[in-house]
Amino acid sequence: MSKKNTIYDQLCQHARETALIGSIEELLGWDEQTGLPPAAAKYRADQMAYLAGLVHRRQTAPQLGECLETLAEGPLAADPHSETGATIRGLRRSYDRKTKLPQMLVEELTRTAVLGQQSWVAARKQNDFASFQPLLETMVALKRQEVEAVGYEDHPYDALLDEYEPGEKTANVTRILARLRDALVPLIQSIADSQRVAPIEILRRSFPIEAQESFGRKMAAQIGFDFERGRLDVTHHPFCTGLGPHDHRITTRYNENFFNGGFFSILHESGHGIYEQGLPTAQYGLPTGSAISLGIHESQSRLWENLVGRSRAFWDGAYAEAQSAFPAALGSASLDDFYFAINDVRPSLIRVEADEATYNLHILIRFELEQELVSGDLPVGDLPGAWNDKYEAYLGIRPSKDADGVLQDIHWSAGLIGYFPTYSLGNLYASQFFEAAAAELGDGNNGSLDEQFRRGQFQPLRDWLCEKIHTQGQRYSAAELVEQVTGSSLSHDALLRRLRGKLGPLYGVS
Ligand code: ZN
Repeated sequence: MSKKNTIYDQLCQHARETALIGSIEELLGWDEQTGLPPAAAKYRADQMAYLAGLVHRRQTAPQLGECLETLAEGPLAADPHSETGATIRGLRRSYDRKTKLPQMLVEELTRTAVLGQQSWVAARKQNDFASFQPLLETMVALKRQEVEAVGYEDHPYDALLDEYEPGEKTANVTRILARLRDALVPLIQSIADSQRVAPIEILRRSFPIEAQESFGRKMAAQIGFDFERGRLDVTHHPFCTGLGPHDHRITTRYNENFFNGGFFSILHESGHGIYEQGLPTAQYGLPTGSAISLGIHESQSRLWENLVGRSRAFWDGAYAEAQSAFPAALGSASLDDFYFAINDVRPSLIRVEADEATYNLHILIRFELEQELVSGDLPVGDLPGAWNDKYEAYLGIRPSKDADGVLQDIHWSAGLIGYFPTYSLGNLYASQFFEAAAAELGDGNNGSLDEQFRRGQFQPLRDWLCEKIHTQGQRYSAAELVEQVTGSSLSHDALLRRLRGKLGPLYGVS
């Protein structure tokens, strides 16, 4: 074995051990969200800060930097898309970013995130932004320290965005979202002018929580979420977390009088889980066994939630089962009405319950406010008012309380600033991937994707996504992958084509 091979093996061993410690921190985080007694929060914050510090020390160890330096010039790094090349490139990227962050800052960010989330839960419940404001101020100040430590060229927000969407720039996201907005606003307007109104009261009937859970579990398993390697629990805000190569956990929240919240969150988080479960397990802890970016991650959740789960073909196959799961609510409702109801388009206050068309405006609002918080132009105390003003300007509605406004999302309390735009990028990637899948899979013996969905058959699509996207790990950047899988770079065209194709017939618009 050559010396460089030995160094490479040590590098991988080091990364795998770091991932092992990181997975323990994730487990503590999952436990914190699902069942931590309130009085335990402070000690849990200490536990997680300790592990975060340990991970950070390992990820920034000078010997690691020396190894990466040696390997970067050698043959193992020559092909950036090979297993060794992608591993060296990915670990180096992480090392370079993390060596810029002082350990004190990392520990403070982790501690503030735990306390911030506890404070956010209470503030949301009591509709009391003022009680959450001091922790959010601390968090924004820490994120601004992070920006200065990491550095940036054009916009301070670039330094935060890059963590979630490597290589992406604020200016480019602004441009893409503006194109999307310019096309969506007239479409949403013509839908409002159409006078056709979806019968959404169907979704507000009584949906017993036990039935929601068992129906959701069944559909999650049917689309391919593996419950032998995962589980489903209830939290304030739905999420998916990976605790090991064979342990991927998803959560949802149920409302007995609203079908969408629980069910579509399950499909959404299952999509995240299916991506994680499709990553190469032998590469766990290494870049080639890790997700590319949050935008690509989100493309997988959106694809299953919206492109599959809100399609007519899916419900052609699943509606009879839904009717027997919820006889009181759906027994007398026609499939046409149910399908129209789950594809209702109208401005609303809550992002996670927003329809596919208006959703991206919710993201644009957060994206703009975050940039102002990070640049210092917007003091945290002015945030609720600024939030409400933007909702009024973009969606024509104004929250009457902060619980339905600025307090609705967990992200900022957890320090996730720069994260929201990846949701819209995910919508764009999902539509582009799905078009390619429909073209490639529609010719085989299984019939079109729609015909497969009507039979409850989702494995060909899941296998296609697994082969083209999941098993690739981080061999390619998000931009390279979308080009490779779909033959063109990211654009808003596929998403618009799909929304027009679906909403046109429902609302009689074009
Ligand atoms: Zn998601």
